[in-house]
Amino acid sequence: MNLRSNSNILENVKLLGKSELNSKKITQNVATEVHVPPAKKIRKKIVVQAADENARASTSKEEVQVSSWKPGNWPKTLQNIREMRKNRDAPVDVMGCEKHGDFIGSGLVKLMSKECIDILRTIIPYPYIVLKLDRQPVYDVSDLDRRFHILVSLMLSSQTRDQVTDAAMRKLKTDIPGGLTVENLLKLDDGVLGKLIYPVGFWKKKVLYLKRVAEILRDQYDGDIPQDLAGLCMLPGVGPKMAHLCMDIAWGSLTGIGVDTHVHRIANRLGWTPKVTKVPEETRKALEEWMPRDLWREINWLLVGFGQQICLPIGPKCGSCLNATICPYAKGEVKLESPRKKKKLVE
Ligand code: SF4
Repeated sequence: MNLRSNSNILENVKLLGKSELNSKKITQNVATEVHVPPAKKIRKKIVVQAADENARASTSKEEVQVSSWKPGNWPKTLQNIREMRKNRDAPVDVMGCEKHGDFIGSGLVKLMSKECIDILRTIIPYPYIVLKLDRQPVYDVSDLDRRFHILVSLMLSSQTRDQVTDAAMRKLKTDIPGGLTVENLLKLDDGVLGKLIYPVGFWKKKVLYLKRVAEILRDQYDGDIPQDLAGLCMLPGVGPKMAHLCMDIAWGSLTGIGVDTHVHRIANRLGWTPKVTKVPEETRKALEEWMPRDLWREINWLLVGFGQQICLPIGPKCGSCLNATICPYAKGEVKLESPRKKKKLVE
């Protein structure tokens, strides 16, 4: 056994010696043929090895990206929507909730007297459009009241067209004695409040919500609005969509995508969710899973206006939409429930 082993070892040593010798010869021949000095050859080998490592690393990164779902064509689809929205002339552009902070202009307006601004307001319905000369907004109410106006406007906007919300906000600001503040709203009779906000959707329920919210703000937040998402969501009549938008508009803090019925509908039509979603909150979570965070602020404004002008709830204008050839809904690849079904108060 030992003898056999020893002789095997000897054989192996001989074979090894031969193969080493052969490989040296081959290496020398190759080196001679291609004129590559050995040192360089080793370096090349290391470089190739490193490249292999990088390739493996990048492949595993790609695998992670591939496994995290993203809708096909989304950058192109988004670019098309931006193009269709470039005129910024949808109702949301002039009457969105962020416009209800008593934003009265910018730049030049700072130089005007209160009387002058009041006169302008009676002549021009939206002085902030005409006088938007620079990017610095000017408000004629305190920051605290402005935040309250934004919250009230968001609460009124649920299941209500922007034009109707806008008219109601104007009445609240001008017809409530002393203006729209937490204290003044609490002094107001429910019937009077109802008349001021009518015909916003679910106005009777919203009268109760507004009164209760004003009470909570007075008693728990010194008349201000909560500065965090959880606090806002605790307010009656305020849901996640409003809370996220409120955090952004009132506090300048981006906490999530504001998904209303327009964003919910369009995201599903475009196939921007891995499966059809049933409620806006589900859509929000699905969008936030894949959409780059730097688009979250833009997407609400972009899709709401797009939904008001082109991708309408009933009878979308696919014929004039730049996305017609790549939109799953237009191509019949996505089937959705009709929006004609009975409306519910979406908070
Ligand atoms: S449903 Fe029609 S309007 Fe809406 S994105 Fe698709 S093609 Fe455009």
